[in-house]
Parts: sequence; structure tokens; C-alpha cells
Amino acid sequence: MMIVMKPGATPEEVAAVVGKVERIGAQAHVSRGEELTVIGAIGDREHIARLGLEGTAGVEKVVPILKPYKLASREPAHREDTIVEIDGRRVGGRNFSIIAGPCTVESRDQTIGTAHVVKEAGGSMFRGGAYKPRTSPYAFQGLGQEGLRLLAEAKSETGLPIVTELMDARDLESVLEVADVIQVGARNMQNYPLLAELGRAGRPVLLKRGLSSTLEELVMASEYILKEGNEAVMLCERGIRTFETAYRFTLDLTAVPVLKEMTHLPIVVDPSHAAGRRALVEPLSLAAAAAGADGIIVEIHPDPEEAICDGPQALRTDDFAAYVERLEAVASIAGKELSAV
Ligand code: PEP
Ligand code: MN
Repeated sequence: MMIVMKPGATPEEVAAVVGKVERIGAQAHVSRGEELTVIGAIGDREHIARLGLEGTAGVEKVVPILKPYKLASREPAHREDTIVEIDGRRVGGRNFSIIAGPCTVESRDQTIGTAHVVKEAGGSMFRGGAYKPRTSPYAFQGLGQEGLRLLAEAKSETGLPIVTELMDARDLESVLEVADVIQVGARNMQNYPLLAELGRAGRPVLLKRGLSSTLEELVMASEYILKEGNEAVMLCERGIRTFETAYRFTLDLTAVPVLKEMTHLPIVVDPSHAAGRRALVEPLSLAAAAAGADGIIVEIHPDPEEAICDGPQALRTDDFAAYVERLEAVASIAGKELSAV
């Protein structure tokens, strides 16, 4: 709350307001301008409102500080964690989700085989790209429609919900036929018409943080989806670009508790794209779980040396069950339980 004092407010009147604010355990920051004194009261909004400062001597008005992201914000109305329900799996709250699968759908054997591994290890959902955002236009761009068909087969064989990326709104209809969660990649985080379209589509969305986006930009982007009436939005930290070149991106784990303060939406962490190499994926996953993430989206492959895309960072499917066990243990220390069916 901002408490704006009247132009002629005396130092005693200012001190009386500060005293009232501090007595309820809130902080008061006094800014004295040439004409006006403004007191910023930081603390429980309802407690401060109940002080009834509006009529107090020397007070001109009390103005609530509104966040620019109204729907995603934890305050004032939506304090509880949002839980996104996906075919019986729950993301958010005390649930921990493990979304795993290959970077890209390559073939029937690779897709169905990997989906079975995810299912058997107790994973929550299956990921795989049919439309891939590649840095080079000459690189493999994904199997497209054929990839979606293989994902549908993986779903009918294992029952796992499917997480897959949509890059172009023109593919929305066919992606909606198979995706239980639509991924918006880092490169499209600020593609506002695409976000609004997904808001209208109503399907759960996993919104990845842009390579150089601030947390406020990420949360504002989610607002484009929420604003259209789609409340099933999950945010994903996947590493940001910093001066460090020893790994692919810098996984910003501070983002997890900070986003939890900013928003009620679930926070998923992608250790794979941040790490860029396999050996780093497990330590980053465990750290993300310890930091309070609501889930992990991780790349795995039966034969990473032969993978078309992102092989060096893919965990081996043979190692996946043991990885899930260790991740589950850390998540439980953080008070969360694996959400699978
Ligand atoms: C991916 O998940 O395969 C991917 C391309 O991720 P990002 O958009 O975070 O780079
Ligand atoms: Mn990838």
C-alpha cells in the first residue's frame, strides 16, 4: 500500500502513521518529496487495509500497489497455488511431476519405446517435439504431422498425457488432437498472438522462459493466456543466456522461489536445455526439486549418440528409473509427492 500524506502533514502525523504500520509487523518506507510525503507500507495487505488509515490525521489517500500482471499474481485474490489437472495428473501444490521423453520424435521404435520407459519408471507425462524450433533453418525441423501421429500412438499405448510444442498457430487444430499440454518454446515466449490463441484454445499450456527474458516478462506473457480465460498455465525455467560459456545456458534456480512469490502458477524446470550435457542434468534436476519446483521436464533417449537433436544432453533411457527414484526422494524432502497414475 502507498499512503499519500496531505501536503501540510506534520512530522508527528507521519510518525503516527509509521507507528501504526509497524505495530502490525509491516514495514514503512518514508519518502519525503518537496511537497508530499509518501509512506510505502509493505506487509500483509489485509492487515494494512484494516488499519483504516484513510481517515487518519494528515493522510490524503491510501493507494493499493497493483502488480501489472493481475491474473497471474498471487495477490490479492489468488493466494493459493494453482493446480493444473491433466488427465488425472496434478501439477502444482504438493504434487511433483516428471515429464520426460526425447527432444524430437524420430521414429516409431524410438517414440513408443521411450514412452514405455517413462511409464514404467513412474513418469507423469511424455514429451516429444513434432515441430522443432531449430537455430538453423537447414537443420531437421521435426516430423510434423507424422510426429503427431506417433505421439498419439505413444499415448494410446501407455496412457501418458502428451506434452508437445506448437510453433505456428496454423498447426493448432492438429496439435490439439494429440496434445494434453501445449508447449510454448523459449523462442516464442513473447509471440503474443500465439499466446492469445492458446488462451482461447483452453488446453493446458507449458510456457517456457525466453532465453533473455526477465521473470516479469515471463509472468506478463502468461497473462496473455490467462486473459483469454485459460487458467491452466505452467511456467518453465529452462536456462537463460549469461556471460558464462562453460555450459549451454545458466539454469536460474533463484527463479523458482521468486516466481512462487510472484505467481500462483506451477513452476516446472527444464534442466536439459540449460545443461547441454548429460552429466549436469541430474544434479540440476535434484537442485530444482530442492528449490521447490513443481516438476521437471527432461530429455531422454534410448541411444543418445544417434539422436537427431540434443543427444549430448539426453539421459539414457536405461538410467531413467534410477534417476526418477532419486528425484522423487529430493522432491519428498521439499514436501512434494510424485504425481503419476
Ligand atoms: C525443447 O523443449 O525441445 C526446446 C526446444 O526447448 P526451448 O524452447 O526451451 O529451447
Ligand atoms: Mn531439445
